[in-house]
Amino acid sequence: MSDKHFDYFVIGAGSGGVRSARIAAQHGAKVGIAEASKLGGTCVNLGCVPKKLFAYGADYGYHFEDARGYGWDVPKSVPFSWKKLIANKNAEIDRLNDIYKSLLENSGVEVFNGFAKFVDNNTLDIDGEKVTADKILIAVGGRPRKPEFEGCEHTIVSDDAFFLDDIPEHVVIQGGGYIAVEFAHIFHGLGAHVSLLYRGSLFLRGFDETMRLALSEEMKKSGFDLHYNCDITSVTENNNKFIVSTTHDDEQIETDLVLSAIGREPCTDNLGLDNTDVNVLDNGQIEINDNYETGVKHIYAIGDVSNSNNLTPVAIREGHALADRLFDNQKDRHVNYDNIATAIFSAPPCATVGITEDEAVKQKLKAHIYDATFTPLKHRLSGRDEKTVIKLIVDPDSDKVLGLHMMGLDAPEIVQGFAVAMNCGATKADFDRTMAVHPTAAEEFVTLRSCRELSDIDFVD
Ligand code: NDP
Repeated sequence: MSDKHFDYFVIGAGSGGVRSARIAAQHGAKVGIAEASKLGGTCVNLGCVPKKLFAYGADYGYHFEDARGYGWDVPKSVPFSWKKLIANKNAEIDRLNDIYKSLLENSGVEVFNGFAKFVDNNTLDIDGEKVTADKILIAVGGRPRKPEFEGCEHTIVSDDAFFLDDIPEHVVIQGGGYIAVEFAHIFHGLGAHVSLLYRGSLFLRGFDETMRLALSEEMKKSGFDLHYNCDITSVTENNNKFIVSTTHDDEQIETDLVLSAIGREPCTDNLGLDNTDVNVLDNGQIEINDNYETGVKHIYAIGDVSNSNNLTPVAIREGHALADRLFDNQKDRHVNYDNIATAIFSAPPCATVGITEDEAVKQKLKAHIYDATFTPLKHRLSGRDEKTVIKLIVDPDSDKVLGLHMMGLDAPEIVQGFAVAMNCGATKADFDRTMAVHPTAAEEFVTLRSCRELSDIDFVD
């Protein structure tokens, strides 16, 4: 046994790993954690937090325009400093890195700044230093998947977008998921012209179709250049510009930046997993059972490396539950995966919880659909031609609300609260007897009266 022997060793100090290490240490375990990069992982350094800060920055582009209708004499062109935004964002991330460090140290977790590799089922090599542990957690997360077309070396991925020297005049974005749409909003709001190329017929596959269509319409109105059924075939460089060739034969786009946002993949290579009996699936994910156990009973995996939710709160809950289960004897500790609410920080933003109308059709449910489209009060004076769209999907037999969707101002803040209600089994009658907060957009959810049967239209994929 090495000098450095731990009860629990966590590989990866992202949201899930840090939570698990901290809670295990608070339960009295001797815990170590290894991180090759900055503490806090993707969420803090290259994901949720800096993305949201950028999205707030981009929102101001809209706020300045909207303010005119309220009497503010905002000049047509308001100077914007990308360098200042980056510097302030970096300072905030540094602050968060320090908080993560203190959280770990104050709980008694030993932090190793290095890359951990398995030597065998119980031993890790961290840049030359050997440690052993009774239990090991793999919480190394994921990273952006790189594209493979000709000239793909000229593209950046979301990790790089957080450190650009300047805001480009024109950006081409490949993909139609969260990251593509959120970065489209960020670049557009900060003044760039954005062309988004999505290989399918409508972006945000998996979200409710009404919301996808509504957001697509709003983005077109705002001046986004949306190309559906279109993908990049090659990128070439020409005089400090890039020429993007697409699957539309006659279409080439000249641009300053190409961002590829085609999904994320687990960081399982280079971990030395071949030296263990941990099973890695074809997509790179670590195979686990319901208790987060890999093929090796004392090696566990949580978060993006072992599931496809790719959501910070999921990894945190999993890490916490595992530590409670292993070191506080809470044998039945489980994570509730029902009604996971999620948001897209676009303009306007979207948020969703529960099943979509398309899923209700696929599952042949007898659902009732309540929906409404309206102009939010704010835009009566701002003059912005932007709608809010809301939808409830209700099971007519139990009256339970099965799905709730919104595209419109403050949607992420609003939907979080309704997700609690849905986890408590809220029915349409519960919504109806709840007094409205007036005047808000959220009140529309408790005043929806007329419904329709499920559409038997064909949904796009
Ligand atoms: P997503 O899986 O959301 O979207 C990937 C997109 O890329 C899809 O539109 C997909 O198309 C397209 N795509 C995949 N492969 C190719 C390819 N080879 N060529 C062209 N297009 C391709 O991934 P993201 O990268 O946007 O985000 C990763 C994950 O991170 C998300 O799933 C989400 O869980 C998480 N995330 C969450 C956020 C939030 O909560 N606000 C924000 C950002 C990320 P198709 O639909 O046809 O498959």
